[in-house]
Amino acid sequence: MASPISTITPESERAEIAGWVHEVRDLGGLTFCLIRDRTGIVQVTVNRKKAPAPVLEALSRLSRESVVRIGGTVKAIAKAPGGREIVPERFEILSPAESPLPLDVVEKVPAELDTRLDSRFLDLRRPRVAAVFLIRSAVMAAVWEFLAARGFVNITTPKLVAAATEGGTDLFPVAYFEKEAFLNQSPQLYKQIMMAAGFERVFEIGPIFRAEEHNTTKHLNEATSIDVEVSFADDREVMDLLEDLILFVYERVAATCRDPLSWLELQLEVPKKPFPRLAYRDAIGIAARRTGEPLKFGDDFGAVAEKALGEEMGVHYFIVDWPTAIKPYYAMPREDDPELCRAFDLMHPRMELASGSQRIHQHDLLVHQIRSKGLSADSFEFYLRPFRYGMPPHAGWGLGADRLVMTMLDLANIREAVIFPRDRHRLVP
Ligand code: ATP
Ligand code: MG
Repeated sequence: MASPISTITPESERAEIAGWVHEVRDLGGLTFCLIRDRTGIVQVTVNRKKAPAPVLEALSRLSRESVVRIGGTVKAIAKAPGGREIVPERFEILSPAESPLPLDVVEKVPAELDTRLDSRFLDLRRPRVAAVFLIRSAVMAAVWEFLAARGFVNITTPKLVAAATEGGTDLFPVAYFEKEAFLNQSPQLYKQIMMAAGFERVFEIGPIFRAEEHNTTKHLNEATSIDVEVSFADDREVMDLLEDLILFVYERVAATCRDPLSWLELQLEVPKKPFPRLAYRDAIGIAARRTGEPLKFGDDFGAVAEKALGEEMGVHYFIVDWPTAIKPYYAMPREDDPELCRAFDLMHPRMELASGSQRIHQHDLLVHQIRSKGLSADSFEFYLRPFRYGMPPHAGWGLGADRLVMTMLDLANIREAVIFPRDRHRLVP
């Protein structure tokens, strides 16, 4: 068995390693190979006058990024990475890499994102790219831990569905035997049904599909959503939960991801509580003033308005008191002013991160709202039925995992936060 490279110290006597050929340099009678595994890099030094014949034979066939297994003695040497080198007795090529490489792993040549994504497996061999996904893994673990500690039950709902979550558009049709089916837009209806099932606190981390033809740096056609639904809670309570979750995740990443953060040369700043809460009406005013666009009550924020708002706010913030007309039918209208509803968006200065609301739990009001959006209540029967048999008041949100990672790590493009992104033009790899 090979030892992780990071465990080899200048005091080690022997080492048995396996990894990728990072670099090869010939200097006079010496060949220096840098060998890399996921824990680090070690120098392997071959003296061509003294080395055993099979070692020299392997060296003559060696190409960068081939996979090798090497055994030999360890010597302390100040100039080498980690202050040690291996003098090999055995040098085995387990899997050769073709030359030239489609992508320079040592990062001397910067590559376009498309080229990187085409050869993602090579791109991911670079520490600053791998760092994103090590941190993303820590983010997901932190989300799970935070919610599980608060009594949330993890659920998995279907991704093959018969009807839209929010009506008509933006769905990917699927050939499903003799029926019409779609990929789910969000787990919204199912997590609400789980409130009728008496689970009270559920979460799901899973894919959502949006058949939007946009080509932006913050939209994908397949995204990952962190969804939460809570019974006997109102909009304010689930906003507090979301705020606490964001803080917990940032703190956890800052504390446990020092190495990957350093590879990204990132000083992670943990957001501060409480996030400002901006009423929709005020947000419209700010955006109109900063952009010069004639925004009015009932308009949604476009990318330009969103950017202007972010510049004004400068930190994470909530937009609250949305017009009922531009939020989904399941958002609870305010009793004192039904033009407004108990919906909110969580914003990062760069973009929207999450949308949520207190939901309508009264069957007849829900039917009314569905119809007022021009939708047919018939196609929602499976969703409406639980509302007739004891549906508790409830609230929840959906948080984009890819955008959370993208904004946390200051990535320019959401595709950098996803291993194999799916967009209008990319279905492979
Ligand atoms: P936007 O207005 O930015 O397109 P949305 O309001 O359509 O987003 P929601 O339906 O509210 O999105 O989904 C909840 C969250 O899921 C969003 O705040 C976002 O973080 C994430 N999300 C939604 N659609 C996408 C997408 N196409 N790509 C990446 N993340 C998405
Ligand atoms: Mg939204």
